[in-house]
Amino acid sequence: MNDYDIAIIGGGLVGASLAVALGGSSLRVVLIEAGAPPAGNPAWDERCIALNDASSRIFTGFGVWDPMRPAAAPIAATHISERGRFGTARFTAAEAGLDALGYNVPLRAIGAALSARMAGLSNLTLLQPARLSALALAPDGATVNLKVETDKGAQTISARLAVAADGANSAVRDLLGIEAERRDYGQQAIVSSVRLSRPHLGVAYERFTPDGPIALIPKPEDAASLVWTLPDAQIEERMALNDAGYLALAQEAFGGRLGRFTALGRRWAHPLARVMSGSLTAPRTVFIGNAAQSLHPVAAQGFNLGLRDVAALAGEIANAPDPGAAEVLGAYAELRQRDRGRVSAFTDLMVRTFSNRVPLLAQARHWGLVAVELAPSLRQAVLLQHLGHLGLPKPAGVYSSTELVPSPLGGEGQGEG
Ligand SMILES: Cc1cc2nc3c(=O)[nH]c(=O)nc-3n(C[C@H](O)[C@H](O)[C@H](O)COP(=O)(O)OP(=O)(O)OC[C@H]3O[C@@H](n4cnc5c(N)ncnc54)[C@H](O)[C@@H]3O)c2cc1C
Repeated sequence: MNDYDIAIIGGGLVGASLAVALGGSSLRVVLIEAGAPPAGNPAWDERCIALNDASSRIFTGFGVWDPMRPAAAPIAATHISERGRFGTARFTAAEAGLDALGYNVPLRAIGAALSARMAGLSNLTLLQPARLSALALAPDGATVNLKVETDKGAQTISARLAVAADGANSAVRDLLGIEAERRDYGQQAIVSSVRLSRPHLGVAYERFTPDGPIALIPKPEDAASLVWTLPDAQIEERMALNDAGYLALAQEAFGGRLGRFTALGRRWAHPLARVMSGSLTAPRTVFIGNAAQSLHPVAAQGFNLGLRDVAALAGEIANAPDPGAAEVLGAYAELRQRDRGRVSAFTDLMVRTFSNRVPLLAQARHWGLVAVELAPSLRQAVLLQHLGHLGLPKPAGVYSSTELVPSPLGGEGQGEG
C-alpha cells in the first residue's frame, strides 16, 4: 500500500502542479505536504502571482486554466522605467500577436483549481499534513525509502522516484547533503494591494528606484498588486507605518502615472535570496521549482520557471518504463539546464544592475533600456524571455502563436528552444 512510482515532497504550487500533470497517467503518485490546506475567501487585496503566456498555456494543457481564468487579470502591456531618467522599455500583447502577455492570478484561485483537479485523480494519494523526515536509497538502488510524520504517527513509503518540490529550504537537499549556492540580497519585498484613482488599462509597471524596484501589476477592476523591494534596514519602519503613511511613500516612489493610490490592503514582507541547488538530480531523486532554484521576484519568473520544470519532468517520466532511471533524470536535467541558467542569470543581473548607484552603471542601464526599446532583435529576445517561450518544452512562434503546449501525457518530444 505504501509503494508508489512517484513521491512528490511539497504540495506548494509547483508540487501540486506536477501531481495534476501526472493525473491520468499509469503512475501511482503520492503527494506529501507539511502544511494544512489553505482556507480563505476572495478578497480584493488577496496575494497574486503574475503568470506569463507560457504558464497559461501549460496550465491549459493540464486542464486547470479554465477554472482559474475568471479570477485572472490580463496583462496587456508592461512598462519598465527608472526613476529620474527618461529611458523606458515597453512591450504590448498586440506586438506579440497575443490577447495578453500574461495574467495576474490570485494564489487562492490557482490553489483551488489545482486542489479540485487533484481531488478527482484516482492515481494520486494526498498525505497532508505530513512532513518528510528521512529519505534514503534502498540497498538494491531500485527505490527510495521515505519516512513521513503524520498526525497518526510515522509512516514509511517507498517510491521509484522522489521529487523534491519542498521549496527554497529543501529538506530533501539537506537530507541528501547536496550543497546550495545562496546569496542574500539584503532586501525584502513588501507585497500588498492598492486601489487606483485611474484605470490601469491592463498595464504592468516596473519602476527602478535607487532603493529597489517597485512594481504595480493589474488586478481586476481598479486595483493592482504592489510589490516594493527595499533594503532590509528600511523594512521594519515601512511595515510599522500606518496605511496613509505607507501609501504616501509608495506614491512618491511610483509617481502619478495611475493617479492616486486610494486604499491599501494587507502587507507581507518577504526576505529575498537567491538559492541555487548544486544539482538538479541525485540517485532516484529530482529537484523542481524553488527546491531547484529560488530567485528574486523582480522579474516575476520564479513560479513560471518552476512550472516549466514541471512540464519538462512530466514529459520525461509519464511514459518512461522506469521514471527514476538515471537516464530519465539525466534527460530532465539536460532539458532544464539552459532555461534555468538563462532565467536565473538574467534575474540576478537585473537586481545587481539596478540596485547599483555607481554613475557609469547608471548610464549603462539607462542606455540598456533605450536599446531594448529601439533594437528589434534585442527587443524580440527580451519579449520571448518575458513570455516564457524561450524555456517552453516546444517553443511556440510568438508572432504567429496559436498552438498550445502539448499535454505531457501526449507523448510529444521536448526540445529546448
Ligand atoms: C514577493 C514575491 C513575489 C513573487 N511573484 C512572482 C510572480 O509574480 N511570478 C512568478 O512566477 N513567481 C513569483 N514569485 C516566486 C514564486 O512565489 C515561487 O517561485 C513559487 O511559489 C515556488 O513554489 P514551490 O512550490 O516551488 O515552493 P513553495 O511555495 O516554497 O512550496 C514548498 C512546499 O513544500 C512544503 N514542505 C517543505 N518542507 C517539507 C517537508 N519536509 N515535508 C513535506 N512538505 C514540505 C511546504 O509546506 C510548501 O508547501 C514571487 C516570490 C515572492 C517572494
